[in-house]
Amino acid sequence: MQVFSIAIHGGAGTILKSKMTEALEETYHKGLQEALYAGYTVLQKGGSSVDAVKTAVIHLEDNILFNAGRGSVFTYKGLHEMDASVMDGKTLDAGAVAGVSNIRNPVELAYEIMQHSGHVFLSGADAKEFALKRGIRMENDDYFFSQYRYDQWVAMRDSDGYALDHSLPDAKEKKFGTVGAVACDAYGNVAAATSTGGMTNKKYGRIGDTPLIGAGTYANNKTCAVSCTGHGELFIKAVAAYDVSCLMEYRGMSLEEAAEEVTMKKLVSIGGEGGMIGADAQGNTVMVFNSEGMYRAMKNSRGEEVIAVYKD
Ligand code: ASP
Repeated sequence: MQVFSIAIHGGAGTILKSKMTEALEETYHKGLQEALYAGYTVLQKGGSSVDAVKTAVIHLEDNILFNAGRGSVFTYKGLHEMDASVMDGKTLDAGAVAGVSNIRNPVELAYEIMQHSGHVFLSGADAKEFALKRGIRMENDDYFFSQYRYDQWVAMRDSDGYALDHSLPDAKEKKFGTVGAVACDAYGNVAAATSTGGMTNKKYGRIGDTPLIGAGTYANNKTCAVSCTGHGELFIKAVAAYDVSCLMEYRGMSLEEAAEEVTMKKLVSIGGEGGMIGADAQGNTVMVFNSEGMYRAMKNSRGEEVIAVYKD
């Protein structure tokens, strides 16, 4: 019988147990579980992997804990500019959006772009015009405010620096709060979606790997679906998500071998800190990272379920 499965992430980085309170850990756990179950329910009801990943990512975007949608970081100008993408492994259809403001759920916009724009990738103010036309939900700037992200930005706004999610300019800690999901449905179709607010204090319209098909997101029924989180510039250079697919397609590697190769060898060799989740068309999933931790969770129809944050 075809196994269906879903895996999600809420970012990777220097996530240490010693720095976490029990209450905060519980909140993260709850946030991951809600998103995981929402996506899994779609699959259980016979829904598509694309709908499952979109649903899970919407839940994570709505959660202020994660650097996507509502909890997005502040740009150099004190705004929120978000990126997202989605890909359907059955058709290779893809939708992506970069540098948009006031969109409640950027993954919803990426999905609309995939379905209705006739294009793959839209950006900035004009993408917002498309969103308005398609009736995508908008929010005012206040909706995206979180004190935590604001304080991070205040700590570095007069500098030229920028930081990945929670990390401060001189901090050794790095955390990447991007969110993502991959799934394999009951028909053996895979899909991936990723969404982010990018980097604190980012400027000049900086875009990371998240909305780039092949870098932060990729899906192909022949191989797998992948969603990445980490230092975007390095994931772009490594063409990380597509590389996992290539290793499976051209080298005959399993999903696990391919994801390990890219995350633990290729990315490490160029200093690319972070991780990724993957699902293949047999319903296998992987969650692999070269950082201290990664907010992650998976559930499948074999009855397996994991919700985890740290290395072990
Ligand atoms: N990859 C994202 C970016 O570089 C950051 C993250 O994963 O948190 O924009």
